[in-house]
Amino acid sequence: MKLVHPEHAPPADAEVRRAIAPVICYPVDALPGPDLAAYRAARAGWEKTSEVIVPPREASCFEVPAGYFFRVSSVEGPQVGDLNLWSADLSERFYSGKTRALHGTHLSTGDRLWSSFPTLRPMATITEDTLDWYGFDAFGGSVHDVIGTRCDPYTHCLLSDGGQYHHCCHSNLTRALADARGLSLPEAERHVHDVLNVFMCTGFTRETGQYFMKASPVRPGDYLEFFAEIDLLGALSACPGGDCSAEHSSDMAHCYPLLVEVFRPSAPPAGWARPATSGYDRSHGR
Ligand SMILES: [Zn+2]
Repeated sequence: MKLVHPEHAPPADAEVRRAIAPVICYPVDALPGPDLAAYRAARAGWEKTSEVIVPPREASCFEVPAGYFFRVSSVEGPQVGDLNLWSADLSERFYSGKTRALHGTHLSTGDRLWSSFPTLRPMATITEDTLDWYGFDAFGGSVHDVIGTRCDPYTHCLLSDGGQYHHCCHSNLTRALADARGLSLPEAERHVHDVLNVFMCTGFTRETGQYFMKASPVRPGDYLEFFAEIDLLGALSACPGGDCSAEHSSDMAHCYPLLVEVFRPSAPPAGWARPATSGYDRSHGR
């Protein structure tokens, strides 16, 4: 149990110290933002090139060439999805933690999904979010988080006295990647990483700072749309938690499929170019 009542008396200047205003760790004002108008204009006349239905409590992979768009849609009922992104050759993966540090705990239109070190470049840009009206609720909850890692059988085993459950998002993503790339399960598992929790409504409690979830506000027809900045392999798991209103890591929740559609624009967005990898020289002071 987390310690709520402190063991140490506050110093005389406690309120002065607490009253210091915070500063943003990573101001992104200097980052060149995406030209959303150009991205959106490129959707005119686009053509759907593929789609995949992700079955409940399973995951599916999909390819998105650089310059294409993809959409994750709710189709039959409230359902959250756990998204992994790799470069098509698996050499780069989505870096949830740094994306959170740059854009905040929850993502929406205009935010980018950054790759891990040493490339640290945008892999995808969010171009539409039909749940952007939600904002932050009275509990501090919001949608599409980059705080929740993914449900996984190891944590479940830890917290359920050795329980074995095989359809957590981590396992679903592992099986899907193994099938898509002809990898063994251990090989595929090494590539599975912290996710973007699509449609999931989450936050941290004010009192204890604990990660919470609540019923997703997503309804059929809602979608989150991305522009692929590089050639991507994606994997999406329809979480066993369903709308994540009660529990996950079990077969208790009502679960629904998710739809992923890929679109090819007739021409790339005006002025768009594949982002370069990080300019850091990697000498690390030696
Ligand atoms: Zn999950």
